[in-house]
Amino acid sequence: MNTKTKKITCISCPFGCTLELVCQNKELTKISGNKCQRGHIYAKNEFYNPKRMLTSTIKLIDGTIFQLPVRTKEPIPKGKIKEAMLALKTLSTKAPIQTGTVLVPDLVETGVALIATRSVKKSDT
Ligand code: SF4
Repeated sequence: MNTKTKKITCISCPFGCTLELVCQNKELTKISGNKCQRGHIYAKNEFYNPKRMLTSTIKLIDGTIFQLPVRTKEPIPKGKIKEAMLALKTLSTKAPIQTGTVLVPDLVETGVALIATRSVKKSDT
């Protein structure tokens, strides 16, 4: 039987509990160290389908700044981060733009939108 143990930090609240995950044959068999149920859920998600929020910038045309800060509206699968970063390199948008504007409704087929995280006015020049 192939048993492995892994320690991760729960980031669901400021306590930052250290969780110990035991897996056998690629199945999660035990979770310990969590002080609450949220930690249990976090550990399961991290094991079977880890997700991360993606924050970055894209090219902005005609704005008072040249790069627009953006983020995914929700976390996306960790395995899609590289593909999403490459997609962002090809993206651009025009000022003016408002915080929260949806720039891409479904980023790299994750079902998650990419949104602007800053309002930018159109440049005078
Ligand atoms: S296990 Fe519960 S108490 Fe511990 S960090 Fe996670 S959410 Fe917070």
